[in-house]
Amino acid sequence: RFRIGILAIQGAFLEHQVALKKAQSCFRPDISIEVMEIRHLRDIKPDLDGVIIPGGESTTVSMFLQRNGMIEPLRDWIQSKNHVTWGTCAGMILLSKITENQKIGGQSTLSIMDTDVSRNFFGRQMQSFEADISLLDEELKTTAGKNNFHGVFIRAPAIKETYTPEVKVLATLHRDDAENDIIVAAKQGNVFSTAFHPELTDDYTWHLYFLQLIETVKNS
Ligand code: GLN
Repeated sequence: RFRIGILAIQGAFLEHQVALKKAQSCFRPDISIEVMEIRHLRDIKPDLDGVIIPGGESTTVSMFLQRNGMIEPLRDWIQSKNHVTWGTCAGMILLSKITENQKIGGQSTLSIMDTDVSRNFFGRQMQSFEADISLLDEELKTTAGKNNFHGVFIRAPAIKETYTPEVKVLATLHRDDAENDIIVAAKQGNVFSTAFHPELTDDYTWHLYFLQLIETVKNS
């Protein structure tokens, strides 16, 4: 039995829940998944196996977390052993150690991954777009059964820099106008983040990857 919490302050809670259920049915139908919303401090339970921080508006989410004294407890939860965390879009921003805009709207982030992100990397012209991204991680490629993934980007961030070798790049986006391929997914320990929204497509690769990571961590 996997227990998964989704931060449900704002953003795509339901879509993640649906995608997790679908991913689970092609993963291990014998394992049951219990999905719960995290809205209060008391919802950050030590016996959760995984947490998803969905997209939304990172400023709003970080302000909410701060006002409710949830930043430290959530950071502690993420950093304790056997816990798996996945941040999408705004979640990527919240997990990063941002230097460029040290504070977002005067608020602090969870500052866990050794990555620098640009909050609205693609700017106004590219508010939302869809594009194929390249998967760089072998396990991910196996899970996907292919080397790419169709990414839905909505006012998306991107990782501008990784500070330590502990950060593994999981996926990149090639753009003709950019000198280097853009990092759109990365992993550090049991924490990973995606700049795009896999919960808005019906390809469950990333949800499957999340469940597999939980299983590996539980069995280790
Ligand atoms: N760029 C947004 C922010 O700053 C994130 C957008 C999203 O999560 N879709 O929070």
